[in-house]
Amino acid sequence: MAKLYFYYSAMNAGKSTILLQSSYNYRERGMRTLVLAPEIDTRSGGKVVSRIGLEAEARTFTTADNLLSIVRDSNDHQQLSCVLVDEAQFLTRLQVRQLCDVCDTLNTPVLSYGIRTDFQGNLFPRSEALLALADSLVEIKTICHCGRKATMNMRIDSTGHAIRDGNQVQIGGNERYQAVCRKHFHEGLAQRNADDLPLLDR
Ligand SMILES: [Zn+2]
Repeated sequence: MAKLYFYYSAMNAGKSTILLQSSYNYRERGMRTLVLAPEIDTRSGGKVVSRIGLEAEARTFTTADNLLSIVRDSNDHQQLSCVLVDEAQFLTRLQVRQLCDVCDTLNTPVLSYGIRTDFQGNLFPRSEALLALADSLVEIKTICHCGRKATMNMRIDSTGHAIRDGNQVQIGGNERYQAVCRKHFHEGLAQRNADDLPLLDR
């Protein structure tokens, strides 16, 4: 029986690199894969690009697309050995169900890669669905500046301070992200609280 895998981590842990390597491993053995990537911005233009320079063509999709249909159509041409999904935190709940159906009705394994929590420490709703429904949960580990495992994503402004408020998804701003351990995540937010207090209240 094919399985749905959810590989999750903090940001910048190398998820795309691992996705591309996995796809390559299949193809090297003469097997066919389909790489799916949500159309969240136009920077990557139908490709999955990893920070260390690897890249591969990807079939992009919007939240309106039916992933089961896309995979079924692709299967009709030639049997797929594996479906790989980048940025899986941007799937809709329905699309997570469709990926379950890819496993359960087409018997094609799905490897999905995504971020577990947002900059406020909340689960991405679609990651929640994957955490609930995947057959196998695999953590990809990266480290905080202190050497501990980084599990949280701190959104940082141009002055290097943690950002507490804003949209869950922010694309193309001046903010950047830092993967940190839980302790430094909470310390960063607490520091921000102190910075935001009027001077008289300190
Ligand atoms: Zn730390």
